[in-house]
Amino acid sequence: MSLNPLTSAELKELTDGLHRLARNLWWSWDQDAQELFHSLSPRGWQNLYHNPVAILHEVSDYELRVRLQDPELATRVRKTLADFKAYLEEPQTWAAAHAPKLAKNPVAYFSAEFAFHECLPIAAGGLGALAGDHTKSASDLGLGFVGISLFYREGYFQQSINNDNWQQENYNPLNPRNLPLDPVVDGSGKPVVGSVRIFGQPIHFHAWRINVGRVPVYLLDTNRPENEGQYRDLTNRVYGGDTTTRIMQEILLGVGGVRLLRALGIQPSTFHMNEGHAAFLTLELIREKMAAGKSYAEAGDLTRQECIFTTHTPVEAGHDRFSSDLVQLAGGTFQTDLHIGHDQLMELGNEHPGKAGSPFCMTALALRFSRAANGVSELHGEVSREMWKGYYGKTEASEVPIGSITNGVHLVGWVKGPMRRLWMRKFKETGGEPKRFVYDANTPEFWNRMADPTVTSDEELWAMRYRLRRELIEFARRRLLIQGRSFSSGDFITFDAMLNPDALTIGFARRFATYKRAPLIFDQFDNILKLVRDTSRPVQFVFAGKAHPRDEHGKAFIQKIIHLSKFSELKGHLVFIENYDIHVCRQMVSGCDIWLNNPRRPLEASGTSGMKTTPHGCLNLSILDGWWREDFDGTNGFGIGPDSHPEDVQEQDRVDSANLYKVLTEEVVPTFFNRDATGIPRQWIARIRRSLVTLAAKYSTWRMVQEYTGKYYLTRPGL
Ligand SMILES: *Cc1c(COP(=O)(O)O)cnc(C)c1O
Repeated sequence: MSLNPLTSAELKELTDGLHRLARNLWWSWDQDAQELFHSLSPRGWQNLYHNPVAILHEVSDYELRVRLQDPELATRVRKTLADFKAYLEEPQTWAAAHAPKLAKNPVAYFSAEFAFHECLPIAAGGLGALAGDHTKSASDLGLGFVGISLFYREGYFQQSINNDNWQQENYNPLNPRNLPLDPVVDGSGKPVVGSVRIFGQPIHFHAWRINVGRVPVYLLDTNRPENEGQYRDLTNRVYGGDTTTRIMQEILLGVGGVRLLRALGIQPSTFHMNEGHAAFLTLELIREKMAAGKSYAEAGDLTRQECIFTTHTPVEAGHDRFSSDLVQLAGGTFQTDLHIGHDQLMELGNEHPGKAGSPFCMTALALRFSRAANGVSELHGEVSREMWKGYYGKTEASEVPIGSITNGVHLVGWVKGPMRRLWMRKFKETGGEPKRFVYDANTPEFWNRMADPTVTSDEELWAMRYRLRRELIEFARRRLLIQGRSFSSGDFITFDAMLNPDALTIGFARRFATYKRAPLIFDQFDNILKLVRDTSRPVQFVFAGKAHPRDEHGKAFIQKIIHLSKFSELKGHLVFIENYDIHVCRQMVSGCDIWLNNPRRPLEASGTSGMKTTPHGCLNLSILDGWWREDFDGTNGFGIGPDSHPEDVQEQDRVDSANLYKVLTEEVVPTFFNRDATGIPRQWIARIRRSLVTLAAKYSTWRMVQEYTGKYYLTRPGL
């Protein structure tokens, strides 16, 4: 190591490099990069919610230059920047071999939400998490890919709980300058501005670019001086406001998204609509073709060849429907642009073709102009075929052209630090090349190797499980202290008695949509109390999740759980962590021993949070719905009930609650507490190994995006 001070040219190279690094979300799945920003300002890392751009505003360039004279730090920075460069420039990607044509004509992936990292809270839940993970894997695979969404300046709400244990929604404006966002500008440095017509008026937008590894994602933003106040606020909130705001946001996303791509000179080969929100893009594609001289019918056929559509839920409320009046007022321009009458426009969104008086359904529009459509698990594919058979005029669901690709998660991005270090160490010890980790961790061979007892011993796995559980408990205690209200005066539970590091820790966290039945397990309250009180085999629960601002039933579920956590005998053994987001999710999927999922079957189209638990050695305990029914085999976790369900929902709740309690007491608790002389639960660990081997690689977006590419992206006629 050289003891000569760095020259100012060298210093500039390193500081510029750090700024570039901070502005590419690649750091969000590279551990060294995160640790580097953490070490620049440990307090800042925590207080600024792990946001490198904000850290570099906190740490001045002057300070950086001084500290880079520390050879150890300079070496780390150089190595991380070299890794970053190598990743960006890697020539031998999967797509270079399997999808080279998409390099020039990429896939344009439209999604109303993307969840990439906790510092950029512009998503409401699972749909956004999936879109974010899809994008990260598209980058890892080297795929020609570009994302389109909206910049929600106030993001999704921050949750707090009031004295009545009722959810409150708070909105804090984000500052784009303090986020990994670059303004989209033209060659002369001026913002690229586009417009769409809504309610007969032009609404202007500019855009922000997020660099996600090798892939760009563009966010449209109507906060422009040309717009009237109400339109400047159009992109304020994720799914904000009423149906009027909603249709306006969706016209902006679909039509504005296509216009932005054209302005940037991007000519996608396929437009992928992630859920129906973006389906107005099809009308813009038709308009373009008609403006170039095609007939309406020809333009429709050509547009259909360009688009694919993924539907994400069988829940009715998840399918946007707009009234005839609203479509007339907000989207009247479509009629002029496409030279069609109002009835003809309404027919494009009619889920019961030919039937007068139906609302305008975005799913119907998306299906009408897609060359292929899919659900997000095998069962959801089946359910969707049944659901849309009327639309296709079929009597047999099997004749409905909706396929399925089961969701996944971006594994490497989800694995928490200590666990990731363990897997990295094992990878190196068994001959793996560190820079291949981000790729190889998605393969079955990798997990076979990791799960081999001669590579990772029971003792090491169990030690890691203890460490992760303790980290979750300490995280929960810290959060509860901030939440404050849990500890009122006269409260005898001291802080350290809250949650027990030896207890079997059961986690439940997701949106509090009612079909997910968050409080189901407490239907058996007396029985659960017995489990919790068993001091030789203690069980405890950690819950988190947000209810949609207008979902009173979901909020009542939250209230019930918090009430139990404060005023019932479950106190100290049940906690609710406020403000669920990616960061809380990561703490929970890593620290819990059991991940509970008890939706009302078949409404959980796929579910993805359970997939995030696997690489941490947390086991799933789930109804056989969505992804879980595809690979639960009796040895790799726990199933609740059979691969079928009663028609009657009350009956279903009753049966599921009984089955849940049964498997908990007969299998989960005994296996977890069946310890050998050294205190290790050998059979539990055997299940962890089975879970690693059978689930980790399969439920990754690495596999999922390859499947989309082969089945849908490369099947564009003429590509
Ligand atoms: C993964 C994830 C979800 C999805 O959870 P499900 O169990 O699939 O509903 C929701 N919210 C956040 C923040 C996530 O990270």
